[in-house]
Amino acid sequence: MKNRFNKIKFNSKGLIVVLFAYIIAQFLWWEILLVRQNNELIDEKQKLLEVTVSNESTLKIEIEFLQKKKVHKTLMIVGEGTIFLLLLLYGINLIRKANKKEHDLLDQKNNFLLSITHELKTPLATTKLQLQTLKKHQLPIEKQQELIEVAIHENERLNILIDNVLLATRMQQNEYAITKEKINLSDFVSSIANTNYKNELESKYLKLEIEENVNFELDKIAFPSIVTNLIENAFKYSNEEINVKLRLFKKNNKVIIEVSDQGIGIKDPEKQDIFNQFYRSGNEEIRRTKGTGLGLFIVKYLIEKHGGSISVINNKPKGSVFVAQFLESV
Ligand code: ADP
Repeated sequence: MKNRFNKIKFNSKGLIVVLFAYIIAQFLWWEILLVRQNNELIDEKQKLLEVTVSNESTLKIEIEFLQKKKVHKTLMIVGEGTIFLLLLLYGINLIRKANKKEHDLLDQKNNFLLSITHELKTPLATTKLQLQTLKKHQLPIEKQQELIEVAIHENERLNILIDNVLLATRMQQNEYAITKEKINLSDFVSSIANTNYKNELESKYLKLEIEENVNFELDKIAFPSIVTNLIENAFKYSNEEINVKLRLFKKNNKVIIEVSDQGIGIKDPEKQDIFNQFYRSGNEEIRRTKGTGLGLFIVKYLIEKHGGSISVINNKPKGSVFVAQFLESV
């Protein structure tokens, strides 16, 4: 299916290139013909003058005039033609860019559909397997608890995924309103981390550096998505070395939340694109990891709704640091 889609895409691209090349060639040919025709016309006029005008000096003046006219007309045709050609090329370039954008979006939407189907099916299949095992076998109570824990975890993953899709849809339609209240952000962020990443904190894969008593006005329902999406990505895009750090601090009247990892890092040209809806890096390694390309779109949207901004820089010696900055609420 995908091959067929790519083949059609390639064919239509090839056809457009041939069509535009033909238009340009045709245009240049017409221009050459016009110059030639003009020259022939003037040459004919000159021949006629040579036959009809007997006075030498009058003939010379007339011929000079005709030659000047010839040069002038040629320059006019070439000048106007060049401007027209430049406009044509500019238009072609605009069409090409719009076309590429449309194709990229279509590609991203196709990838999104493929990955969301996969993401929905995996937790469902795992949960089903846990329940079937519990039903079939008389297992010791600890083993039962373990299976139930896995099923609950998968259910939570499914819930986060569906929440993300619903959130992104509402955001796209600009239907998402937030209600802010002033709270102790230090306690709030610590509790998000402790609730969602208990095991990772215990095993020191995740470390917290949280300045105490930072107060901030935020939406208690929406804000956790910012923190969890950034931490989820930090784990997801770390391969051998899992070393994620969540920092919260105040600097120059700004509240800053930083999530850093020692993972695979992000190339400079992609640093802007990753915040677009459905965007996933073209890197094969990333395509193999789970994801829908919605997380950072949601993060950026929610941060901006809280009056802040987000950027990403390289971590040292490797990995990335996502920096969210907000103006301190008074
Ligand atoms: P998803 O993770 O579902 O693909 P996101 O919107 O969360 O979607 O991220 C978009 C892309 O940004 C990812 O596909 C990945 O290429 C890149 N990315 C995000 N976070 C990180 C990170 N911590 N390290 C490296 N790449 C990242």
